[in-house]
Amino acid sequence: MSEPLLPIQKPKMKLAVLTSGGDSAGMNAVVRAVVKTAIAKGCEAWVVREGYEGLVRGNAHDTQEVQDARASEDATFVNNLRFGDGELLKDGTGDYISGRTLRGRYIVRVGWDDVRGWFGEGGTLIGTARSTTFRTKEGRQTAAYNMIKEGIDALVVCGGDGSLTGADVFRSEWPQHVAALKADGQITEEQAIAHQHLRIVGLVGSIDNDMSMTDMTIGAPTALHRICESIDNINSTAYSHSRAFVLEVMGRHCGWLALMAGVSCGADFIFIPENPPAEEKWEDHMCKMIQSNREIGQRKTIVIVAEGAIDRNLNPIRADYIKDVLTDRLGLDTRVTTLGHTQRGGAPCAYDRIMPTLQGIEAVEALLQATPDTPSFMIGVSENKIIRVPLMEAVAMTRSVGVAISEKNFDKAMSLRDPEFAEMLDGFHATSILEKEPKLPQHQRMRVGIMHVGAPAGGMNAATRTAVRYCLRQGHVPYAIHNGFLGLLDDNVHQLSWLGVDTWMTRGGSELGTNRKLPDIDLGAVAAKFQQYNFQALLMIGGFETFNALLILDNARKHYPAFHIPMVHLPATISNNVPMTEFSLGSDTSLNALVSACDAIKQSASASRNRVFVVETQGGKCGYIATMGALATGAVILYTPERGIDLDMLRRDVKFLKRRYTLDQAGKAEGRLVLRNECASDVYSTDFIRRMLKEEGGSLFDSRSASLGHTLQGGIPSPMDRTRAVRLALNSMAYMERHHIELLQQQSKVKQAPPESAAVVTIQGTKVKWVPVQEMVAHADMKNRRGTEAWWDEYTTLVEELVGRQQLLERV
Ligand code: ATP
Repeated sequence: MSEPLLPIQKPKMKLAVLTSGGDSAGMNAVVRAVVKTAIAKGCEAWVVREGYEGLVRGNAHDTQEVQDARASEDATFVNNLRFGDGELLKDGTGDYISGRTLRGRYIVRVGWDDVRGWFGEGGTLIGTARSTTFRTKEGRQTAAYNMIKEGIDALVVCGGDGSLTGADVFRSEWPQHVAALKADGQITEEQAIAHQHLRIVGLVGSIDNDMSMTDMTIGAPTALHRICESIDNINSTAYSHSRAFVLEVMGRHCGWLALMAGVSCGADFIFIPENPPAEEKWEDHMCKMIQSNREIGQRKTIVIVAEGAIDRNLNPIRADYIKDVLTDRLGLDTRVTTLGHTQRGGAPCAYDRIMPTLQGIEAVEALLQATPDTPSFMIGVSENKIIRVPLMEAVAMTRSVGVAISEKNFDKAMSLRDPEFAEMLDGFHATSILEKEPKLPQHQRMRVGIMHVGAPAGGMNAATRTAVRYCLRQGHVPYAIHNGFLGLLDDNVHQLSWLGVDTWMTRGGSELGTNRKLPDIDLGAVAAKFQQYNFQALLMIGGFETFNALLILDNARKHYPAFHIPMVHLPATISNNVPMTEFSLGSDTSLNALVSACDAIKQSASASRNRVFVVETQGGKCGYIATMGALATGAVILYTPERGIDLDMLRRDVKFLKRRYTLDQAGKAEGRLVLRNECASDVYSTDFIRRMLKEEGGSLFDSRSASLGHTLQGGIPSPMDRTRAVRLALNSMAYMERHHIELLQQQSKVKQAPPESAAVVTIQGTKVKWVPVQEMVAHADMKNRRGTEAWWDEYTTLVEELVGRQQLLERV
């Protein structure tokens, strides 16, 4: 046995992780994070293959390593596993599921390196199953025996509500199983005493986003990506042939996927279980709505139906039936596409790498803190933070949605979904069908100027489309101001139409054209143009420049009455550097572009000789993209402008990489990523770091660099950026409408817009909040063009923890 890496210590806990029920993207990120965190915290990490079925089957034999470990001081074994040497890769093929050493072994000891690179893989690499045996008490007793035999009494379960229920049943019965096993002589008195209680924690792996008490389930964002990719592709053929398509998506009791896809892809009609059509004869209503879109010249029709869609009497609404209705009544050439299992597959999106990682880390913390008296927790996400909630409460609440639907209590079913769900449904209705009569009386209608300022970002066009469609439904007149303030001065202003923006949901870049020039190029002339076009509201979409532009306009209100109108800045920038908002449009698209690029780079880096790739990201003086990108790609080193770069840091980084490469398995090429934000240092440039690593790496590793540059602006905006765009644009329009009506009520001839009518729309937690532009100044670092606080800053240390940096550097 080789030398231990660290001083020998007894493991704090032996924990196992399993994935169960339907697979979902992000499950591998969970397993990776659980394994690494467990080992980093001095625990033993095990994985259970094939879900609960693997627990029941257990291990038919011990590997030589396990036998050695049992015979020797166990802690030595723990220690050696810290960086590699787990059972998974022992057969040398990497194909551990069918690997010779694992045949007949379902509960498998794993080391740090066994889970390397699991990020990019969809599904679950440790397998999942639906186990009928585990549903029986005898089956669960066998499972308990198999766990105790390996000394495990802490379990992380990642699955749907069925899997989490199974986990809770198992935990509550555990003492009975222990007593029975002892009585049968299957376990010893000492084993019974050592394993009196089972500690359990659940994570929700489900593509439907159907679990209560968490904002997002693991795998749902990736499934939405897959659906949107398919619909985006179908859109072009539908348009070419002027066809209608009915798409069936997953969601037996939950319409989240159908709703979000409907919003993201600009569908015409959706059917979801929680909110069946209000009309008894819904076919008439659907045809009327679709016909009205066709009458104004729309060439394609997209209808999305959740697999569990029903009418008010609980009769299923099937895609084929919808197709027949559209064909027979409207004469549309209609096709049905069932997306099926394509929705589950493929590489996880950035969100499904980052959030499951954070949840996996929290799961280990929860297990370490669990006592026999604490309830089993489920790890969820609320307001973008990782939370613990009582597992069974969440399961019970989830089931009550199904009950409410079966009792035709649809209002209750909707109320059990989070508030964003209802907001998005309203958003869908507001942007899918143009009604004949505008909603607002003539005198309340506005002339709205819409412009893009700064660099393009994914979601700008989706926000514009939403604002335009909202305007037209209400009776406002939307004007495109092309090419920012310069365009305004050049009279590059045109009215926008419902059909004209039809395809903008999926378009990257900026359809209006954008420009960095601020209004102070000629404030008087800008005010004159506002008057000329009689703008009564202004929506500006863009990044830090836009915030500056709004500030300038607000400050100029004292000189120019034309600026006494509601004005809103909707943040859109890949740098995500607008103060006080957690997310700007474009930041998610950019993160996904970075993840795809880095996956390819890593592949190339591994294929050649051991290679460290120094990847430069955009982001200006804001390290958001680099930090979240590092977390999403498993980068080993991260350089941000907030932390800067110094010589000591570089020295430690070289030392870390040398130790890391020394530990790699002989003959196994490993590629590693270093992420460096473009402004992390004026002196230690990307090329400097590349050359330094090449020189220092010697025979251990080579180094190359790549600059992602403008590719980070992404092509097609991600579904998350599109849905955020819809939400923020609708909120912005409603906000400006309210302020306009208030201004109308002022008696004086010269209107005085209140300070809060010049505001930035922000996302804080899950809420949309308004920040008057003057208030935002206090939270802005104007010199560095970013907020004074960075909520993601804590993740910088996490990047280091997940590569075991400290353990390696401490190694003597
Ligand atoms: P999905 O959302 O993909 O359907 P799920 O976790 O809800 O995932 P299920 O098939 O309901 O999927 O459950 C997965 C496994 O969990 C079952 O095959 C069974 O082994 C176990 N399980 C489910 N419910 C229970 C229960 N009440 N008691 C014991 N085990 C259960």
